[in-house]
Amino acid sequence: MSASLNAKIAEVFDEPGCDKNQGKSEKERKKGCTKQLTPGAAAGGCAFDGAKIALQPIVDVAHLVHGPIACEGNSWDNRHSASSGASTYRTGFTTDIGEMDVIYGGEKRLFKAVREIMEKVNPPAIFVYQTCVTALIGDDIEAVCKRATEKFGLSVIPVNAPGFAGPKNLGNKLGAEALLDHVVGTLEPDFTTPYDINIIGEYNLSGELWQIKPLLDALGVRILSCISGDGRYKEVASAHRAKANMMVCSKSMINIATKMEKRWGIPYFEGSFYGIGDMSETLREIARLLIQAGADPELKARTEALIAVEEARAWERIRVYRERLAGKKVLLITGGVKSWSVVSALQEAGLEVVGTSVKKSTKEDKDKLKALFGSAEEADAHMIDDMTPRQMYAMLRDAQADIMLSGGRSQFVALKARMPWMDINQERHHAFAGYEGMVTMVEEIDKALHNPMWAEVRKPAPWDAEDSLLKAQSAEQLAAEAAPA
Ligand code: SF4
Repeated sequence: MSASLNAKIAEVFDEPGCDKNQGKSEKERKKGCTKQLTPGAAAGGCAFDGAKIALQPIVDVAHLVHGPIACEGNSWDNRHSASSGASTYRTGFTTDIGEMDVIYGGEKRLFKAVREIMEKVNPPAIFVYQTCVTALIGDDIEAVCKRATEKFGLSVIPVNAPGFAGPKNLGNKLGAEALLDHVVGTLEPDFTTPYDINIIGEYNLSGELWQIKPLLDALGVRILSCISGDGRYKEVASAHRAKANMMVCSKSMINIATKMEKRWGIPYFEGSFYGIGDMSETLREIARLLIQAGADPELKARTEALIAVEEARAWERIRVYRERLAGKKVLLITGGVKSWSVVSALQEAGLEVVGTSVKKSTKEDKDKLKALFGSAEEADAHMIDDMTPRQMYAMLRDAQADIMLSGGRSQFVALKARMPWMDINQERHHAFAGYEGMVTMVEEIDKALHNPMWAEVRKPAPWDAEDSLLKAQSAEQLAAEAAPA
């Protein structure tokens, strides 16, 4: 790995906002948090993938992958990160490195690709992603980006997170470092207000940001920049003028929040948009930080008034579902912040959470779960560090859970056990944020649980039923023949 990449990784591992990191000795901290990846085992979750996931939702930017075409994958419908305008982010730009470039180097090809994008698309910026092959052959994307910026007068940003650097989570942070080094603080907003905030780690999956924005609009709070869902380059570049930062997914881009606090004195907090109670707490915390930074204190009363109206409406709308869902048991297999934020939403919906995975959760996430389950012992009994598909299957087959909420990869375990399943991860098609999202989530769980299809699929197949009938008949016949006359 290049010296600059090594230094950047060491910096990310020294993150002051990570309590796990702060609990380690200096020597342990240097080793980093991640196990060394085994060759070939990085598929679907390499550092490059993590950096791209974190930055691709900036919608007006061209995201250019410098590497073999396979690294790029499907950028069009990969995750349902929605845009309210530009769709440049969905086009897959790649230098498509081949054997000759591996021999002679791919820097010229990269430079030409930047020029071609500028001529054909003319975006406000181009993000250039390093990958394993181009890093291994020694292509210096930082130098090429610098030269292209000078030559074309366009922001060309290097994102140095080749796949072999580590897992997806490290890539999220390296992507964030690229923003901190080259983007945030480089432009000034047209105007500022005492009500400007940034939302960090929100990717607008299936349009979740749009379930939050009307609430903030009602309070007069402006999202100066969302990093990175439905983001615009100019907004991200002028994010340093916000009065407060909200972290939505602490594990993914905490370094943006801590460094913005250090450089520009912007306070931050970690909140959740899932569930009625947590949504209200988030609004309260935004108001508190803004008032602390100089906004009119009457914002507090307006926030409470909005919360009262929205909560009453949401509770009323989910009341009928709460009756239908009462006592149903849920197995929740997801990661990080969702391990607690979704648990609290499910409990509000009247469901019983029989298990939640905590493999990717921080110590803080686990502490929040303990509070939700009422005691450390209860939480320990429900927190699952790692669960094999076989264990998930056994749990569902034995009806210890009525439904599984997870990512798409484990859906077949539930389907094999003939149990309902609902997508809770990034590929989902429904937005679950805010009061409105809570109603949608409860509706979707209800639909999945009470789908009449389950009664059908749990019946024996007709040929199996026929077979058992024939067996029963022949057994009866044999018994009749064997009986004394
Ligand atoms: S960057 Fe490396 S690990 Fe990631 S997809 Fe490309 S080749 Fe695979």
